[in-house]
Amino acid sequence: EIAHLPSRRALEYSDRVFQTVKSRNPNQTEFHQAVKEVFDSLVPVLADRPDLEKQAVLERISEPERLISFRVPWVDDKGGIHINRGFRVQFNSALGPYKGGLRFHPSVNESIIKFLGFEQIFKNALTGQPIGGGKGGSDFDPKGKSDMEIMRFTQSFMTELSRHIGADTDIPAGDIGVGAREIGYMFGYYKRLRGGYESGVLTGKDVQSGGSLARKEATGYGTVYFVQEMLKDRGLDLSGKDVVVSGSGNVSIYAIEKAEELGARVVACSDSNGYIVDEKGINISTLKRLKEVERKRLEEYKEEHPHAHYVENDISSIWAVPCDIALPCATQNELGKEDAEMLVQNGVRAVGEGANMPCTQEAISHFMYHGVFFAPGKAANAGGVSVSALEMAQNSSRLSWSFSEVDEKLQEIMKKIYHDSQEAANQYASRDNLIAGANISGFLKVADTMIIQGV
Ligand code: GLU
Repeated sequence: EIAHLPSRRALEYSDRVFQTVKSRNPNQTEFHQAVKEVFDSLVPVLADRPDLEKQAVLERISEPERLISFRVPWVDDKGGIHINRGFRVQFNSALGPYKGGLRFHPSVNESIIKFLGFEQIFKNALTGQPIGGGKGGSDFDPKGKSDMEIMRFTQSFMTELSRHIGADTDIPAGDIGVGAREIGYMFGYYKRLRGGYESGVLTGKDVQSGGSLARKEATGYGTVYFVQEMLKDRGLDLSGKDVVVSGSGNVSIYAIEKAEELGARVVACSDSNGYIVDEKGINISTLKRLKEVERKRLEEYKEEHPHAHYVENDISSIWAVPCDIALPCATQNELGKEDAEMLVQNGVRAVGEGANMPCTQEAISHFMYHGVFFAPGKAANAGGVSVSALEMAQNSSRLSWSFSEVDEKLQEIMKKIYHDSQEAANQYASRDNLIAGANISGFLKVADTMIIQGV
């Protein structure tokens, strides 16, 4: 009786703050989803640490320190004028300057940016690097735009964003729709606006402008390193396993490359139009050329590999391709309950989230119930931002490290994130609840620091 009182009180506290978040942010379903997932897993910690409620930590951590929203006007190649919306959420700076990517995608709105920014706080804390949480982006659709249109848009976007960022305040990077090309244009324009070469203001830069080697590979490699460590702890490994990876962007490409390097066979990957199934294993050099150089549709893969099979439109049926390991690396809520059921039915052993929040809550519950090992995105995809922090360190010291130096550091960081998450899971939840483990481990670092820094 007495023993469960603190848990009941903790549950009430977490629920009460969640209700406030909902009513203060009406209709922001992705933001609600991200907050709920974290709050639910914090209950055992809140029960253990009544000071967290007294310090109003949940109330403070779920309200962004600052949210910037702005107009982005730009002119297309034919002289047409367009208006997009730009955002930057500066969510939490307890551990360091705000850090997080920029997403350019038509689905971007306040809810998406806040969910991503909220997740980023805990992810960044898990990396052990001195970075707070932020995120930004625009509802601009880069698809089908010319290089010049991309340049004009990013310059207009940076005109406003530049007032709010800086190497010691807020350091954006890429995300969906923002890669080295966009970062390059933004960095070039920031330089002009400031009249100074402040390379630490953006990460994910090309190597010539102060970017880090292995940054491009970092998120995908990191996801595979994390999954490998999780499997190793359970007497399994990647070698000889069949893997399905959704997406064919920056995260997916390097997750595929690393998984194949470690002896797995990646049988399928997708883009926004369809997916490819290649029983011989996805050919990474074809994929890189198509997506990184030519910016073409995945369908073209068949031209070179006629034995491969292309499925148009029905992209979520990629989860019906039998595999041992599934790596959703495309976007939020891309893997729902029915997809999870299909994967479980076909014998999936492990799931690793390369994207941010790719699995719905129902899908995750289904995996957990069926004993599928689950690597949550906050931990598993933290490799990208980890190497961003290493890029910042190289920029401040005016040095650049070799590929293998960065890659080794990345491996160490991913292992540490895994073991910290595992330890928190063992202490507060259960061995196979790495979701709770990652949330708790990241949260405690931020919460304790917020308390030290005062209200
Ligand atoms: N957008 C990436 C993420 O979701 C990277 C952010 C960064 O490097 O700042 O973590």
